[in-house]
Amino acid sequence: MDVEIRFIDSSKGKGLFAKKSFSERSVIFEEEPLVACQFSWNAKCKYRACDHCLRPLETAEENARRLTGNTNLILPYPECCTTKKDTIVSCEKCGVEYCSPDCLTSANSQYHQTICLGTHERNGIHPLELLDEAWRNIHFPPETNSVMLIVRLLSRIVQCDDPQLAISQILQFCHRTVNEDNALAHKLLGYKFSDQIDKLRTLMQQAFPHETIQQFVTVEGFKSLLALIGTNGQGTGTSALSQWVSEVSKLPLADLEKTNLDQFIDKLYQDIDDHTGSFLNNEGVALYMLQSAANHSCLPNAEVSFLHNNTKLSLVALRDINEGEEIFISYLGECDLQRSRVSRHRELMENYLFECECEKCLKECDNFYITSDEDEDIDV
Ligand SMILES: [Zn+2]
Ligand SMILES: [Zn+2]
Ligand SMILES: [Zn+2]
Repeated sequence: MDVEIRFIDSSKGKGLFAKKSFSERSVIFEEEPLVACQFSWNAKCKYRACDHCLRPLETAEENARRLTGNTNLILPYPECCTTKKDTIVSCEKCGVEYCSPDCLTSANSQYHQTICLGTHERNGIHPLELLDEAWRNIHFPPETNSVMLIVRLLSRIVQCDDPQLAISQILQFCHRTVNEDNALAHKLLGYKFSDQIDKLRTLMQQAFPHETIQQFVTVEGFKSLLALIGTNGQGTGTSALSQWVSEVSKLPLADLEKTNLDQFIDKLYQDIDDHTGSFLNNEGVALYMLQSAANHSCLPNAEVSFLHNNTKLSLVALRDINEGEEIFISYLGECDLQRSRVSRHRELMENYLFECECEKCLKECDNFYITSDEDEDIDV
């Protein structure tokens, strides 16, 4: 491992540090998620992805047909599609699909056995289905998180040979006070849905009568899990079509062919925009042990990337990083990152409860009274 998690001090907590130097654009590390799941609406709207790693299960052509609504669409260069249909398998009890036998085995051994709906007596509707539905009614697209991530986390503990070890792993993420958890849980769901937290908690409790996880379905325990996914959940997305686009762009084509292909792709995205709008990808959320140890900076030296069209995360250096240097990522989106210091601080405080003291913020501290125009339009 070329990075390490180090304790900085009691106010800053932990951070991620380079154990060797990295050059710009190099991959610092890659990691599989502790748990991942597709967003509820995304799955319900038939964005077909592996239930374990989110790899697309449609061919690029099927993907393009669904997104354009044109069932006769033919994609040229079909050899550039990376989806392997012949390895797709499904759970024989409940029918959820996986991209490969490996994913089915991993899912079953880690968490799926406990929550497979096919193995439960279905007297009416199962608490897990009600939970998913309740979450969808609170959390409309564009989605940013999923209560089903908590379901998988708890399942992992239940299925682990050493549940105490699994619990201590999860508690590493939870280091906040009760009041902080409260604020973060309400922020995640939106303040108008505060009554719903207990409904979600009760359903979670019904779905998990297991002795080992009872500490996580108490009022406080459940809020700390909501705070955990709210602050550490990393968005992730995959797409058969964008993989195809990236593969065809590597083909050695003659000028005319290249021009035709570019025109075809432009038209394709225009048609998708007309028919589907901006929801192009299979989307979900995941938790990563190493990546979540990285602190925020408004001038980050690394960024999260998904280079394998699944939930395997790659952390990529944005500039040269020296041995011993702390590795920072940005918790803010590209757009928010460009805003004024005041604006960034408000976002970080509301969503992560900390005051940013990064290099950029300290420098801009001197210009405290200069704020960008949009700040005045924001409801506080
Ligand atoms: Zn998979
Ligand atoms: Zn199943
Ligand atoms: Zn900052």
